[in-house]
Amino acid sequence: MVAVVAEIRGANLAEEYPEGYKGYMTMTSTSAGTLPEWTSVLAVVAHPDDESFGLGAILDVFTRAGAGVEVLCLTHGEASTLHGTPGDLSSLRGAELAEAADLLGVSRATLKNHADGGLSDLPGAMLAAEVVAAARSCGADGLLVFDTAGVTGHCDHMAATAAGVLAAEMIHLPVLGWTLPQAVAARLNQELGASFIGHQDEEIDLRVTVDRARQRLASHAHVSQALPSSVLWRRLELLGDTESLRWLRQPIGATVTS
Ligand SMILES: [Zn+2]
Repeated sequence: MVAVVAEIRGANLAEEYPEGYKGYMTMTSTSAGTLPEWTSVLAVVAHPDDESFGLGAILDVFTRAGAGVEVLCLTHGEASTLHGTPGDLSSLRGAELAEAADLLGVSRATLKNHADGGLSDLPGAMLAAEVVAAARSCGADGLLVFDTAGVTGHCDHMAATAAGVLAAEMIHLPVLGWTLPQAVAARLNQELGASFIGHQDEEIDLRVTVDRARQRLASHAHVSQALPSSVLWRRLELLGDTESLRWLRQPIGATVTS
């Protein structure tokens, strides 16, 4: 089903860009189970642990394929209600991010100091400018973010994604959004009283087979947050070896910049 959608889009693009161009080639080389062939990826997230709990398995696929991956994290996550280890969360979580990034093969993790819980109060253009700077610094071919609804519904997740999409519009980059199948979101919400927001099958563009070994290691590096009772573990169990993504900004009409 998803492969058909990709083919149809590819066909339209082929008519539009008969001689091909970078974005078109990326799109048509993307099947239902293959991530785009980006050589440099910037992941934009709100909190330390989002890159592991959420994007970890996808980042692992990119790094195993030889892509350079950088993470831009917009807060220190100091407002978390979880305290799996004693100490100041702001500094603890920064150190946890650094360790998790190492485990995931991320070449650089940049931590901004915006207030945890307050991203949506900040000017979107200001956050987008930070994303633009990070994307230019690493020569990103594309951005990886949480889905527009934030996946967990957290307003910081939505703001981080909005900043990523706005930045991508400014510098003409494609954006992939990590999401959950609706069935998994509904199951988690029913079982655990969570508030995950997923997507129906027909709204999902890519389903990628992943190996979760490094994601699990990186998640455990977030000692203050990865509690045995965390909904994370059940989510990983339900997702199995598959992650789902949507194009939040497709590479259609993108200009190739150097
Ligand atoms: Zn988060």
